[in-house]
Amino acid sequence: MKRGIRAQLSIPIALIVLISVSLIGFLSNHFISLAFEDYVIKQQETKSQDIVANLSQQYNRLTGEWEIDYIHGVGMYALYDGYVVKLYDRNDKLVWDAENHDMGLCRQIMGEITDRMESRRPDVKGGFVEHSYDLNQNGQYIGRVSITAYGPYFLIENDVRFLDTLNLILAGIGISALIGSIIAGGLLARRIARPITKTAHIAKEIADGNLGIRFEGSAQTRELDELVAAINYMADSLENQENLRKRLTTDVAHELRTPLAAVASHIEAMVEGLWEPTRKRLQSCYEEINRISGLVADLERLAAVESDNLKLQKLPVDLQELACDVAGNLEMKRREKKIQLRVEGSACVVSADRDRITQVMTNLLSNAMKYTPENGHIRMVTEASDTSGIFSIEDDGIGIPKEDLPLIFERFYRADKSRNRKTGGAGIGLAIVKSIVTAHGGKVTAESVAGKGSKFTVVLPK
Ligand code: ADP
Repeated sequence: MKRGIRAQLSIPIALIVLISVSLIGFLSNHFISLAFEDYVIKQQETKSQDIVANLSQQYNRLTGEWEIDYIHGVGMYALYDGYVVKLYDRNDKLVWDAENHDMGLCRQIMGEITDRMESRRPDVKGGFVEHSYDLNQNGQYIGRVSITAYGPYFLIENDVRFLDTLNLILAGIGISALIGSIIAGGLLARRIARPITKTAHIAKEIADGNLGIRFEGSAQTRELDELVAAINYMADSLENQENLRKRLTTDVAHELRTPLAAVASHIEAMVEGLWEPTRKRLQSCYEEINRISGLVADLERLAAVESDNLKLQKLPVDLQELACDVAGNLEMKRREKKIQLRVEGSACVVSADRDRITQVMTNLLSNAMKYTPENGHIRMVTEASDTSGIFSIEDDGIGIPKEDLPLIFERFYRADKSRNRKTGGAGIGLAIVKSIVTAHGGKVTAESVAGKGSKFTVVLPK
């Protein structure tokens, strides 16, 4: 099973934090221990010096007596701190000895220190060592003191407690960082995963046919926002396609029903002898049938250009020459409507399929004539740029309403359905234009102002 984004994010984050925290913990523990040892060693050195200084004052040179009570106090304090003190006079005669005084306590304290050091600092491998210090008074030797302590250093109960607390704090910080990172990773992942899950759900809904669904609001990440926008855009286009498809069925049905019904009723009347089959009536039937054939032919042509294997016979063609030919072919229609047509511009050779581009120009020019009233004007212009050939057809006809402009290249789209039925168009001409131009790697655009006229521009790569 694949892991979710939450696990994918939180596990590496937690791992990184775990490694850094352990590393920081280990290093700080190590360096703090080193510094602490250093401190303890210095501290113990000072302590020994203190004992020596203290004891050297407990000798009365006048009487030659030692202040045994004080010495006892100093020695016992030192013993509790882990120092076994022995005091000798200048003749090296033992004056005071902690071991003599309280052997049991000495053993107990030394044992505790040894145990503590063996369990806490097994690597130190120390032991009790004896150091001897001379005692002087006003520069005169008055005896010596021997101090036995665990070397090179030892830890007392408070030191151990201090180090334990420190480690506890370090561990606490580490664990909090770890938990914090897992929570932060989880939240972060949720923030990313939520819109993805939602988008996946929406995509599935769309696939199941619920085209009205959209991602409301926005994701807080740029890339996710783009994904959401793409899904919404996909839903929009699918919905548009779906609407067009529905409209196509109604349009085709409508388009066929009226002429078929007319033809059927006329022929029925003639078959039943109600109508004389006059030439005029037969002619009108013939025209209707022609119209239906025209629509079917349009549909076939569209299917042909839209099929994936639209094969282009690309050869150099001069767009201006083609424009003149097309204008010539539609001369009859132009005269009927008394339209003024000008073909302008310069020769412009592109590599294209002559028949297909003729079709494009024919469709555009016949549209221009269809949607331009009598005595109107049409201008066909061809021009060349460095990389492409451009031709445009401009009329001063009825124009296209703004809201229809983005849709006119869609199949069966007609700006004004009732009006167009009279003109005979089924909304296929521009779809064919777009298919052919796109197959050539070109682009077709329309500009129009309703009531003023339209301009179609085709750009074909050379
Ligand atoms: P049709 O067969 O209906 O002309 P097209 O695909 O050629 O189909 O055109 C689609 C629609 O675009 C037309 O129904 C019309 O409303 C609009 N249109 C196309 N060319 C022009 C033009 N030159 N002037 C005004 N409207 C136009």
